[in-house]
Amino acid sequence: MDDVVAERQGGKNAGFFTGIAQEWRDRVQAYIEGAGSPALVQTWPDIEHKKNSFLNLYLSPADGSVQGNVLAAMRAHELSLCPACGEAGAPNTLDHYLPKGRFPHFCVTPYNLFPMCDACQTNKKEKTGDAVDPRFFLHPYFDVFVANQVIAVSVDPPFDAPTFDLAPAAGLTAPQTALVSRHLRELGILQRYARFFRNEYQRLLRLVDRLRAAGLDVEEHLISFRDHAAVPTSNAWQHVFYAAVVANPGLLAYLRNDNLPPYR
Ligand SMILES: [Zn+2]
Repeated sequence: MDDVVAERQGGKNAGFFTGIAQEWRDRVQAYIEGAGSPALVQTWPDIEHKKNSFLNLYLSPADGSVQGNVLAAMRAHELSLCPACGEAGAPNTLDHYLPKGRFPHFCVTPYNLFPMCDACQTNKKEKTGDAVDPRFFLHPYFDVFVANQVIAVSVDPPFDAPTFDLAPAAGLTAPQTALVSRHLRELGILQRYARFFRNEYQRLLRLVDRLRAAGLDVEEHLISFRDHAAVPTSNAWQHVFYAAVVANPGLLAYLRNDNLPPYR
């Protein structure tokens, strides 16, 4: 922020940015202390008349500017899945955890920015929470419990045409469980997962068919697929899927012994 303010000193907004510099710094500090929670971090009505001066920092940063370099570094990430939902693929937008429309003063604050996939972004839009639940979304930097698996699926019989139920993983605290539920709901992850699981289950049946034909141990191989999918995160969709398969004794027995359906 100090560098951004210093860069503004030659322009028409020099006085404005100098005047708000200390409060801006204080507000970013409050963001960090409040872990970005929309329940704790305040909007800043006094800067509303200068909102575009902040938004332009994000929307049209000069090449080589302080904020331009920050944004370019974030966009040059090498992630292979979305930090918000765990779906495979390089996330190609940047999300403002607290939306820049209501929190323009955090529009180039690195704590408030992270890569996100298009599907998540489309569902998240400008949402943060509502009167009942002031916070809808997991914060990828502050909610450190997401380093562990926070979503789990159950695969329910009949196993030739199973149903899938996605929910927060066991072992979370009650507030964490409620937050994960809201996150799943508000990003439309349940619907997106359903399609993924149906397709992945078809692949699983084909795979097991080949393992059995080759005389290989089904469970041993599925465990190895699960462990492979846990990197870089156990919240990757494939890991959530294989973890559910391997943790389901009835399904494992079916995959080992039963006649698999012909449509595989
Ligand atoms: Zn996503």
